[in-house]
Amino acid sequence: MGIPKPTIEEILHRDLNHRCPEGHPCVRVSAVAELPTRFGEFQVVAFHAPFEEREHAALVKGNITHQENVPVRLHSECLTGDTFGSLRCDCRDQLELALMELARRPVGALLYLRQEGRGIGLENKIKAYQLQEWGYDTVEANQALGFRPDERDYGIAAHMLRSLSVESIELMSNNPDKIRDLTAQGIRVTGRIPIEARPNPHNRRYLETKRLKAGHLLSPAMGPVLDEQVDCLHRTANPPRPARVRP
Ligand SMILES: [Zn+2]
Ligand SMILES: [Zn+2]
Repeated sequence: MGIPKPTIEEILHRDLNHRCPEGHPCVRVSAVAELPTRFGEFQVVAFHAPFEEREHAALVKGNITHQENVPVRLHSECLTGDTFGSLRCDCRDQLELALMELARRPVGALLYLRQEGRGIGLENKIKAYQLQEWGYDTVEANQALGFRPDERDYGIAAHMLRSLSVESIELMSNNPDKIRDLTAQGIRVTGRIPIEARPNPHNRRYLETKRLKAGHLLSPAMGPVLDEQVDCLHRTANPPRPARVRP
């Protein structure tokens, strides 16, 4: 019989006094609880980042510690998409597809990284939207604001995976840069699981820009339509008229 795998609760105790040297991206597992969700049963793990204002989180399915080929989604926070249901991007679709996929599997994790707007922050993301209303695409808008097209940094994500003692991952992503970045951070990526949602009329140009300018591996025949998309695709195609009430 092998050595029993530590649980996340044990990692919580192990991490109590964890701190990397100043200047290195650092997180420690700071709380863990069961989290039943509309997608299935997960554990939610809070990560404290001693050198940042932000806290990060992971949703974990099954026991992933010391496992190989763990399906992992890195999701960067998107307030407008994840919470408000914005149609300008596909973040919420990808979040939901990833959680549905993880719920079907015995093990896996979604890391929720607090790097809003591809790392430029909420305020700048909204400014970039304003520029897009004037005709810029998503990459040009970020550049006009003085940012690189993508300011995200996966050093924290790599540390989170190490904190969770994951041996190797299959990355749920369409973005080859993420695989390169994680590999550069010392994470073993053994495969890729595509995550594609059907575009809507508002994010079609955004997705096309991601494919052409940012090298995302999106196929022209996109993935399934999500239940809640049916509504918004329908709404966009056929705006409902107010019901007429007879006097
Ligand atoms: Zn650390
Ligand atoms: Zn988004």
